[in-house]
Amino acid sequence: MSESLQNHVVAAIATATGAAGVCIVRIAGTGALQLGDCLAPGCVPRPSERAGNTFCYAKVRHPDDGESVDDVVLLVYRAPHSYTGEDTIELQGHGGAVQARRLLSAALAAGARLAQPGEFTKRAFLNQRMDLTQAEAVCDLIMARSERAARMAQEQLDGRLGKVVATHYDTLMDICSDVEHLLDFNEYEAPDGFQGRLMLRLSTLSTELEKIIATEHEGHLLRDGALVVISGAPNAGKSTLLNCLLGRDRAIVHDQPGTTRDVLEESFILEGVALRLVDTAGLRSGGDAVEREGVARAHKLRERADLNLWVVDSSQRDARSLKDESRAVHPRNTLLVLSKVDLAVSGHGPLPEDYEVVRVSALTGKGIDDLKAGMSRMLENIHGGGCGEIAVSARHAQELREARERLEEALQCLPVDLVVTAASLRRAAEALGRVTGRVYSDDLLERIFSRFCVGK
Ligand code: GDP
Repeated sequence: MSESLQNHVVAAIATATGAAGVCIVRIAGTGALQLGDCLAPGCVPRPSERAGNTFCYAKVRHPDDGESVDDVVLLVYRAPHSYTGEDTIELQGHGGAVQARRLLSAALAAGARLAQPGEFTKRAFLNQRMDLTQAEAVCDLIMARSERAARMAQEQLDGRLGKVVATHYDTLMDICSDVEHLLDFNEYEAPDGFQGRLMLRLSTLSTELEKIIATEHEGHLLRDGALVVISGAPNAGKSTLLNCLLGRDRAIVHDQPGTTRDVLEESFILEGVALRLVDTAGLRSGGDAVEREGVARAHKLRERADLNLWVVDSSQRDARSLKDESRAVHPRNTLLVLSKVDLAVSGHGPLPEDYEVVRVSALTGKGIDDLKAGMSRMLENIHGGGCGEIAVSARHAQELREARERLEEALQCLPVDLVVTAASLRRAAEALGRVTGRVYSDDLLERIFSRFCVGK
């Protein structure tokens, strides 16, 4: 964003559309307070003459024809004490999609430009009101689908991840300057023990980064939700299990095989983690084209799943077909759900080894609590790791991995080549800098803020 565009007054509806008690239109940028004067001509003293962090009642009039638009509470924030760090006006008007749009169009007519998605937060970042991890946390918080996801986003918004990474960045910059200082003089005259201490500092830092990277799986589960795929032979009891877990009839249950021919997805919160619970077409060969497509999708989903619930009808299990069905489900992230345990067993054959088995009856509810506990445990354990309040995103993990690789590269070059070491350390520092935004490009900001909604 060029400087002039960045300073331009922008406006957007900050609240969700629809019938509501209140709507908020946010107007920020140099000149926002004068724009407030224009929108609320009867306001005495004028918004631009008011102190920051104050509010007043105001009648908003359309700047083109003076028509009354809404009675609002008008809030005044003065730079740098606002969300974006700029002069800001907030209009709290009557809720409702049409009324909110009327207020916004009055602001646009007064000279504001419609804000881009995430532009307020982007400005907050550019004005150093927050680092990049905090800006991303704002989006995570808005999008949070579970209590735990919201708590994690709040920790990140409080700066926990940013502070940890900034500390490692500063450590690395210190190391860089020590190495470069030595290079400026004579690298062959390093003080006693310099190389040894350098190796220790780098390997300690590398271990610390590894600990943060290990939280990526938890970050993925909290941000994106866990993909839990229910699969198995036709009639194994998959749809009944989905309904039972959801506590309502979502999928059609039928004793005729092949009823679920496509993929059904529902959201479900388990121990604070949002799950994307997916019921798939019964795995069997043959069938018509639609069913075959459904089966192909089921196989693909099993490969992508964070957790597989492989449902096997306990009343008639057949070892041969089980071998076939076990294709693409790994014991590491699969629970073998033996269904219909309320029925007498008529099948036979051993169960495949290595899978954790849970016995349930979706009809009576028997074993469902054990299944939920097993699902939770397995989702937590799949990748292990985790260090409390931090759970990084895929972007953070990618940059941290890059930093770690460069550190390892630097370590490899010691004690022979300090020049290459210094170059690798610089690249490691850049990667760490991209996590917090000390180093950024327009592309990086575009990627991050395009995920935001307008008005945030
Ligand atoms: P899907 O094809 O794997 O989705 O299987 P469904 O959920 O449609 O179930 C197939 C048949 O098995 C239906 O007649 C269900 O009522 C029955 N069924 C499913 N779960 C149970 C169970 O736990 N106990 C008993 N007795 N029957 C079940």
